[in-house]
Amino acid sequence: MIEVRHLTKRYGKHLAVDDLNFTVEKGQIYGFLGPNGAGKSTTMNIMTGYLGATKGEVLIDGHDILKEPEEAKRCIGYLPEQPPVYPEMTVEEYLRFAAELKKIPGAEREAQLERVMCLTGLEGVKGRLTANLSKGYRQRAGLAQAILGFPPIIILDEPTVGLDPAQIIEIRQLIRRLAKDHTVILSSHILAEIREVCSHILIISEGKLVASDTPENLERTMSGTGHVEIEAREEKHKVEEILSRMDEIRSVDCEVLEDGTVKARIEAKGAEDIREQLFLTFAGEGIPLRTLRLEKRTLEEIFLKLTQN
Ligand code: ADP
Ligand code: MG
Repeated sequence: MIEVRHLTKRYGKHLAVDDLNFTVEKGQIYGFLGPNGAGKSTTMNIMTGYLGATKGEVLIDGHDILKEPEEAKRCIGYLPEQPPVYPEMTVEEYLRFAAELKKIPGAEREAQLERVMCLTGLEGVKGRLTANLSKGYRQRAGLAQAILGFPPIIILDEPTVGLDPAQIIEIRQLIRRLAKDHTVILSSHILAEIREVCSHILIISEGKLVASDTPENLERTMSGTGHVEIEAREEKHKVEEILSRMDEIRSVDCEVLEDGTVKARIEAKGAEDIREQLFLTFAGEGIPLRTLRLEKRTLEEIFLKLTQN
């Protein structure tokens, strides 16, 4: 559906997007996750043809967004971070204007307007000036504009920012409903948000793609790199000395407990689970381990590890 290849964007000297490569397949909900300033909006603006790239290309259903913008843009509905609203228009006028821009045929226009207003819960405010809308309703108007024409791909930049919890739940339900017959890409700097609705997570940090997988796979493949905790009835220096000989270990944090046993929190170098090596090593030294436990890394910890330096 979408191919992004070697996408790079510089603002002056600042590298905002750094050689991004990914593919978006049909029928999934993709989550663009990254801290503020990671490059999410820049990438989405390029993917939707609002901004030129410094390097690289974006293909939408085979159409290059730069070379065939009309064909490519027809496949996409976009809610930018700052929804484009025209304060002097009512909600209905604004959506009718958007429908004209999208060249929705006159015969279908009214029915579509009704449908998107119903989907986004805007019927009650359709006569109101967009300038007088609350943040939640302004966001819905932007969303309605993105859905108009029911393009196969819907891209939403931080769709729930500034909304209250009830509005967030509503927008999520709407996104799930849309995902039944559209490919949806949304961005957020909040992991819980992405995990809640997305079937595929793209983690972006400082303009680079640092992970791309299902939430389940991310947890499974990276949780093994969590800490292992062991306890042994032994001298602290002896435990430290044995651990220092193991190549698989990156760092060790040892403490002596009240009953004199030693507890060590161990971080492995790689992604593998080192519990069995630990068991065998200590058994080989004639030291029985009283505890051997893997602290699984949560998705929160994985996200933080991938996006902090
Ligand atoms: P995100 O949406 O993930 O918060 P952005 O794509 O908005 O990130 O920004 C990525 C980086 O590019 C940030 O460091 C931001 O300050 C910078 N940036 C964004 N837009 C501009 C611009 N028009 N001019 C200069 N720098 C920009
Ligand atoms: Mg942004």
